[in-house]
Amino acid sequence: MIIGGFQKNSMIDYPGKIGSVVFTGGCNFHCPYCHNPSLVDGSYGELHESEIFNFLRKRVGLIEGVVLTGGEPTLHRDLPFLCSRIKNMGFSIKLDTNGSKPEIIKKMINSKCVDYFAMDIKTAPENYHTLTNEPDMAEKIISSVNLIIKSGIDYEFRITCAKTFIDKKNIKGILKVLEGSKRVYLQKLVRKKMLDEDYIKNEEDPDLENLKSIIEPYVLDCSIRS
Ligand code: SF4
Repeated sequence: MIIGGFQKNSMIDYPGKIGSVVFTGGCNFHCPYCHNPSLVDGSYGELHESEIFNFLRKRVGLIEGVVLTGGEPTLHRDLPFLCSRIKNMGFSIKLDTNGSKPEIIKKMINSKCVDYFAMDIKTAPENYHTLTNEPDMAEKIISSVNLIIKSGIDYEFRITCAKTFIDKKNIKGILKVLEGSKRVYLQKLVRKKMLDEDYIKNEEDPDLENLKSIIEPYVLDCSIRS
């Protein structure tokens, strides 16, 4: 597993838990607003797993959960094994994913090595080709959403409201996939370091309250996350 970063303590990344955050290296998407460009362009420094395990061993009973985030963690085929090892130490596991690898998500559900999924929904399925060169991404995203909803494991879907990807038309496409789901968060685009620096200048904010009112009738809970 290529680990690109580690945050020892976090109060905000795992809902309701004190957590540590493991950042995996590499991503198969190219979101212009990405806040972790070094994890996408490969300029991150690599950490060895042993550094993380050494820290966690000393924090059993103090830290409650470990968040696997990226980059895109599911690109690493040994992710289920890593999560099982951490879970066996007594920590809860949250996986942040872009949903591009349903086969890994399925493996994690079957091996019961994850306690919480947070999947990003970038745009309507038919528009994912603007973020990645991988074919059949629309089908993969739909498959991941369905696996997570039916898994019996707690989850949230997160929508970063970047106007070129999220508008009234795209929201309709997204709702076809998310209809009936438990929890959807709308996130404002944060204007700080981005993969495409020009994107900060060009982008306007969509009306989040309006998007929320469109989504609310279709899901159990839709909230704006500040
Ligand atoms: S925002 Fe997430 S999915 Fe998009 S490029 Fe960055 S790490 Fe990858």
